[in-house]
Amino acid sequence: MATVTQAYQFALDPTPRQRRALASHCGAARVAYNWGLQLVEARLQQRRAGKNVDLPWTLFQLQWEWNRAKQQVAPWWAENSKEAYKSGLDGLARALKNWTDSRAGRLKGRPVRFPHKKRKGRSRDACRFTTGAIKVLDDRTHIQLPRIGILKTHESTRKLARRVQQGSARILAATISRTADRWFVSFTVEVQRQDRSGNGKTDVVGVDVGVRHLAVLSTGTTIANPHALQRSLRKLRRLNRQLTRRAPASNRRAQTRRRLARVHARAANLRRDALHKLTTTLATEHGTIVVEQLNVAGMMRNRRLARALADAGLAELRRQLTYKTCWRGSRLVVADRFYPSSRTCSACGWVKAKLTLAERTFTCEACGLQLDRDLNAARNLATLAHHVARSGWETQNARGVDQKTQPAGQVAMKREVGTERRSGRTDTAAWQGAATWIVQHPLGYSPSR
Ligand SMILES: [Zn+2]
Repeated sequence: MATVTQAYQFALDPTPRQRRALASHCGAARVAYNWGLQLVEARLQQRRAGKNVDLPWTLFQLQWEWNRAKQQVAPWWAENSKEAYKSGLDGLARALKNWTDSRAGRLKGRPVRFPHKKRKGRSRDACRFTTGAIKVLDDRTHIQLPRIGILKTHESTRKLARRVQQGSARILAATISRTADRWFVSFTVEVQRQDRSGNGKTDVVGVDVGVRHLAVLSTGTTIANPHALQRSLRKLRRLNRQLTRRAPASNRRAQTRRRLARVHARAANLRRDALHKLTTTLATEHGTIVVEQLNVAGMMRNRRLARALADAGLAELRRQLTYKTCWRGSRLVVADRFYPSSRTCSACGWVKAKLTLAERTFTCEACGLQLDRDLNAARNLATLAHHVARSGWETQNARGVDQKTQPAGQVAMKREVGTERRSGRTDTAAWQGAATWIVQHPLGYSPSR
């Protein structure tokens, strides 16, 4: 038996009055966050001027300052649960800590920026409740939150309600959030779960996530996008073009924006749903699953819709596989992001210098292999697993932080051998050797890959 922290999210059907209350709580969280940030900046400036003032950096300190000031800053504070302000200040304390950690070199990846102001309409509307009456009601169609009261859920809460009734789950917190014009509640739940040590399967499958297809497996199976998703993607492209033609700050532009947000949310839902079906099958029916690592830094910079969508799909696939492989006892291998899975020949190992997104077929100039590019990539990923198996398993998340909820040995990632680049070799021997299969590729990461 293992205790894991898990989230259960449900769409809500709030009344107009409840909608206002939900929005008000999220607004209150934002106000507290911005107020705290302003205070921290002012105190930092005073310190720089040589004054000896307290610098509130933790949630506890920020809350203390807020309680002294709230009557002045927000005389209407009693309209919302105190949890709303705490939620905003907690977000700020976390952001400050991330910044400190990043500066001290405790976080991998790009440097974390100093927290900046949250703007209404631009930042995500969310608010977290950690104390008070947080419940899933026995009728399985309602939930209860402090101050906001009883809310109807859009879907049945059966899966969570059953666990709570059996006593195998304990609700720790609830977060309300808004996506486009829909409200959600997400419960953070401590769950007692039976983890398996194996699912009886020994085979390896490589998975390549795409835009034209949902995914291509190294076994040759192609999982198509659901029709509804395909339609949403077309609509998304059309609305994106429309948006660029709209005059700035016009009503029409605002209208297109809202529409775009709705279609975006729908496409994301459809994709997530399809991915859930796929990942359950993968985790049940295969021993080891290999996926590409997401290039987070490159993702932020990329403005091409197709690439952004593929990255979003890959992120979701990896997230789902991380916990599902734990539950089912299969294993997940994440390839290094410099591993050229699309540009390598899966038959002989020759590496093509450049492969544009438009090239749908991989043609090997060394052995003459012609293969669908996604299938070729999936096969290369599957091959990788054998090298990992030889060089041992390690557990780490993408930013170098060990994760509490992850049993060791489930997510394997070979750590970079060193930061220096290898001798400029592009041939396959460089990554096929068991100890050095992760290589800083001399060509670097190219978005056209
Ligand atoms: Zn070849």
